[in-house]
Amino acid sequence: MTGELADILQRAADGGRISAEEALLLYTDAPFHELGEAADAVRRRRYPDDIVTYLIDRNINYTNVCVTACKFCAFYRAPRHEEGWSHPMEEILRRCGEAVDLGATQVMLQGGHHPDYGVEYYEQLFSTVKAAYPQLVIHSIGPSEVLHMAKVSGVDIEEALRRIRAAGLDSIAGAGAEMLPARPRTAIAPLKESGERWLAVMEIAHGLGIESTATMMMGTGETNAERIEHIRMIRDVQDRTGGFRAFIPWTYQPENNHLKGRTQCTSLEYLRFVAVARLFFDNVNHLQSSWLTTGKDVGQLSLHLGVDDLGSIMLEENVISSAGARHRSKLTELVWMIRSAGRIPAQRDTLYRHLKVHRTPADDPTDERVTSHFSSIALPVLQPR
Ligand code: SF4
Repeated sequence: MTGELADILQRAADGGRISAEEALLLYTDAPFHELGEAADAVRRRRYPDDIVTYLIDRNINYTNVCVTACKFCAFYRAPRHEEGWSHPMEEILRRCGEAVDLGATQVMLQGGHHPDYGVEYYEQLFSTVKAAYPQLVIHSIGPSEVLHMAKVSGVDIEEALRRIRAAGLDSIAGAGAEMLPARPRTAIAPLKESGERWLAVMEIAHGLGIESTATMMMGTGETNAERIEHIRMIRDVQDRTGGFRAFIPWTYQPENNHLKGRTQCTSLEYLRFVAVARLFFDNVNHLQSSWLTTGKDVGQLSLHLGVDDLGSIMLEENVISSAGARHRSKLTELVWMIRSAGRIPAQRDTLYRHLKVHRTPADDPTDERVTSHFSSIALPVLQPR
């Protein structure tokens, strides 16, 4: 390893800030083991108790009808398509109730950009769920939905955010970030808002006290420099707001969509990026890997590259699964993955507070009912589209 690379790695491992150019150099040139060790040093300093967290939640999709037609998406159907569906509120509540019975603490309500769904729809959705299940945290939607609902209702972003928060939204999911830089974003989602707009919605939300996470979808043909540019754009906003709780990179799934033929991100590219993200984000607390898209082995390996959170058991997930994500797990297995990686598993809530720390195997959960995708793919409960 050259002197320059070693210097950058050491500075990052010690908690110093690295530039985007330095991050790119680490991503392309740093030896894998040294890169991983530096990222793990950052994790250890942040979380010296060696705890790795997980969450029990359910992703509930209220509609697959969408006018935005992202090329990478296998989930949506255009308005009036015969396979389009929307769940009535009773069905959404039924799914929330199942989730609560299985120990979920959070729901992620997400869906397409339905041409008729303005702020009023989301107010009704969130207030109905909150009234029925006040114990569930509503960590839901993303900037794209916020922009869409504001447009449908003819209000500005701030009013839309204030109203849906008043109705029960607790925090915003990092969905829809995909790739933020213009070239790769336009190539895969030409009708979606720009990366700058996505970040602008997050910045307004953070200013109102609504925190969020940030995601990144890797593997649709973006360059290494564009991957780094994505995290630079997020870090710049985070410097101003501090509202991103976590960064969650995941890999593009290539089936049943209009981007056929593009390669997926390899496991090594993913793991290297996870490590670089931990070193780059000196201002984001948590780093979550995606076992759903990369597989459980890669998810477990990521725990040695700076990751402190394995995310959700995902009682239900339909969007990424529609595009080919076939990995499945269950609560007992997720806990075993963490423990056998040499870490202490802990169930967390949306705010990353520890709910149950499984210090010894005797503390491990035993409920075999808590499995991922116990209800996927969502059967449409039809109502007029
Ligand atoms: S990713 Fe979201 S916005 Fe894009 S087509 Fe799919 S449902 Fe619509």
